Amino acid sequence: MSEEKKAGKAKQSKSTTSATLARPSRAEAEDAVRVLLRWAGDDPSREGLIDTPARVTRAYEEFFAGYAVDPRDILSRTFSEVDGYDEMIVLKDIRFESYCEHHMVPIIGRAHVAYLPEHRVVGISKLARLVDAFAKRLQIQEKMTAQIADTLNDVLQPKGVGVILEAAHQCMSTRGVHKAGVEMVTSRMLGTFRTDPSTRREFLSIVGNPAAMSVANT
Ligand SMILES: [Zn+2]
Repeated sequence: MSEEKKAGKAKQSKSTTSATLARPSRAEAEDAVRVLLRWAGDDPSREGLIDTPARVTRAYEEFFAGYAVDPRDILSRTFSEVDGYDEMIVLKDIRFESYCEHHMVPIIGRAHVAYLPEHRVVGISKLARLVDAFAKRLQIQEKMTAQIADTLNDVLQPKGVGVILEAAHQCMSTRGVHKAGVEMVTSRMLGTFRTDPSTRREFLSIVGNPAAMSVANT
């Protein structure tokens, strides 16, 4: 690929994720749902489906609320008076609902987020809100794992960050290979979580997921 083409491609992918991308009107979105109802083989004008396009567009506002959130803002308020606390902070079993960007069906799972503070800590609920800010978008699990870890690392600049996501993908259970009960585990370890095996072991034992030790995707 030529340099020019590469630049063009990079520019294109940037613009498609930008908030400046023209948003369709609610009426246009509802029309699109009617098209999909017809594509499924049903009649959008029958009684049971008449309000469905309006309901689906409202549901989309909840499913994809993350696009309206700046994840870095969530972490902007930090506390530096921690009385010398320098142990690991872990929020485990954060349930999340996300949506596969290939099939637009749910990815439902749990996130475990940890960091080793250097100077600053955040309110613990902020870690859950950070997970939601990235979950409530079209995602792939690997990317979401990296986004959560990298944002925490960039904003708080702790000694280390560990993030593990365990999730079931409905695009695997309800279509395609139809394998239910399968969970995908992804992880990202930064700083001391990557370099110090004892830190990593402590995190994995707290989240009760020693199996992740062998698949830790550092
Ligand atoms: Zn999928």
